[in-house]
Amino acid sequence: MRSVRQILDGKDTPLVTVGPDDAVLEALKRMAEAGVGAVLVMDAGRLVGILTERDYARKVVLQGRASATTPVRAIMTSPVRTVGPEQRAGECMEMMSEYRFRHLPVVEDDVVLGVVSIGDLLKLVIEEQRHEIAALQSYIAS
Ligand code: AMP
Repeated sequence: MRSVRQILDGKDTPLVTVGPDDAVLEALKRMAEAGVGAVLVMDAGRLVGILTERDYARKVVLQGRASATTPVRAIMTSPVRTVGPEQRAGECMEMMSEYRFRHLPVVEDDVVLGVVSIGDLLKLVIEEQRHEIAALQSYIAS
């Protein structure tokens, strides 16, 4: 199975980030604009947290907080689990399944290269299965 670097090479989504003192509403706007379900929380160039739609649902809506006045740092998850660019896609899936999250930032030498989502991994698995089926079909037909 392919590496995380190969997945990132095939994506052109820019990094979606917020600061810890930004309002949750700002984070939601950035997620909506980019069409993603998570933002990375960066402070002075360092990855300090992650905030996803699930955090918003559980820690803002359900707890009766206001997204315009709640700072990102109050509901983000920290520390963030990350992978390196050479990590295999299968290992990322195992991590997502074990820790029950759907986003993995990819970090190399303290620089965030991108984010791999469960959607990216599913796309990869479907593509690989398609190739395998085509190869088997041509083997059977030959
Ligand atoms: P998700 O399934 O990605 O929406 O995330 C579910 C929960 O896990 C949320 O509370 C996220 O903030 C948290 N989370 C998501 N990705 C990560 C990660 N890579 N490391 C740590 N926590 C995460």
